[in-house]
Amino acid sequence: MEDGTNLLVVAMSWAAQLTVAIFFIAGFVSFYTEVWNRAFSDSERSRTERIWLRIALIVLAIGLGSILHFAGYLGGSTSMMYHNIGLFILVFSLLDEEINFGEYLIRCVALITVWAMHHMGHFMVDRFAISMIILVIILVVVWRFRHTIESRFPLRLLVSSIVAIDFWFTLPTHSASMVMTPAVSIEAVLMFFVMKLSTGRQQNLWAHNEQVAHQANYDRLTNTKNFTAYQKEIFNAFGIARTGHQPLAIAMMDIDHFKLINDQYGHLAGNQVLTEVANALKRVLLQYSENYQLYRTGGEEFTLVFPDSSAQEILAILIHCWRTVRAAEYVYDKDTIKITVSFGLTELVDHDQSPDDVYKRADHSLYISKKNGRDTITVDGK
Ligand code: GH3
Ligand code: MG
Ligand code: MG
Repeated sequence: MEDGTNLLVVAMSWAAQLTVAIFFIAGFVSFYTEVWNRAFSDSERSRTERIWLRIALIVLAIGLGSILHFAGYLGGSTSMMYHNIGLFILVFSLLDEEINFGEYLIRCVALITVWAMHHMGHFMVDRFAISMIILVIILVVVWRFRHTIESRFPLRLLVSSIVAIDFWFTLPTHSASMVMTPAVSIEAVLMFFVMKLSTGRQQNLWAHNEQVAHQANYDRLTNTKNFTAYQKEIFNAFGIARTGHQPLAIAMMDIDHFKLINDQYGHLAGNQVLTEVANALKRVLLQYSENYQLYRTGGEEFTLVFPDSSAQEILAILIHCWRTVRAAEYVYDKDTIKITVSFGLTELVDHDQSPDDVYKRADHSLYISKKNGRDTITVDGK
């Protein structure tokens, strides 16, 4: 009878701690993902801002992981829960997408340090060596196969669970204010598993939201930012240039006689040319700066935005774009298609009231390029 009551108390205490852990982790994951998004998938942010945000991610994961680990050291009946959440956060940050090797290494060192602290005083025991070897193997495998693992929740669940099992089943009997028994290890691994499951749903939901946001801002055919994205981002770029007294150059590009290409080779051939032109332009821009943006603002019309650059600086880049696009051969079925393009370039001037004023000037220069026989770059009417 007493055993039954005991079991009930243990089960209820476990369930209560699990609830706390799940809600804590939900809050952590949403905050952390928000910072991650700003650091990695927000094109409006400057390079320095992104670097600071990436540092913030490391501080957030390692800082919180350590604080929770410390809370676990204070002992009491919730000790395992604190250690478990701390472990969860450190393992979670290992699977961050797009981090470089240095950032990954820092996360590994933090995890290994916390791990070793749990084995304090028992370093010569085989169990410690075995748990470390398994951990290091996992860390190498995660880095090697990160692209496959990141995008698949079942794999993330598997990897995290193996780390949790390795951690909780190899601890010494007295570890970081906990008295370890097989029962505690099982409770801990189960808790870890449920935490991971609950955040998986959350992450899938975000992935879906991100997909919807992508569809709203990108053109389907060429996977280039669309007019909606242009309107949002030019508004910001205009504001930044104004307040920071920085230059801002805008160019418009239109494919010459595109109707003829559709008529001669068919609409599908036209589509392929459009896609290849967009890709070529993106490649050229990336050679100069990742802050330079390309938008498909019309059918066969593109707008290029160059923050912190004057028209004079950009002219050489436009010539590079123009050469690349007109030199390429676009192959569709048995046809080889050649095209030329016209550009209009301008930059922000003092009396510009809104991004539209700059846009209109670029459009006017493009019109002049067309009027002067196409295949031309016009800078502010000249
Ligand atoms: P120019 O610009 O040199 O004056 O001549 P143009 O023939 O390119 O003239 P215009 O800009 O008026 O025509 C654009 C054509 O682009 C009309 C339209 O059928 C075609 N177009 C627009 N969007 C698409 C698209 O997504 N796919 C294909 N294949 N064609 C498109
Ligand atoms: Mg055209
Ligand atoms: Mg046009």
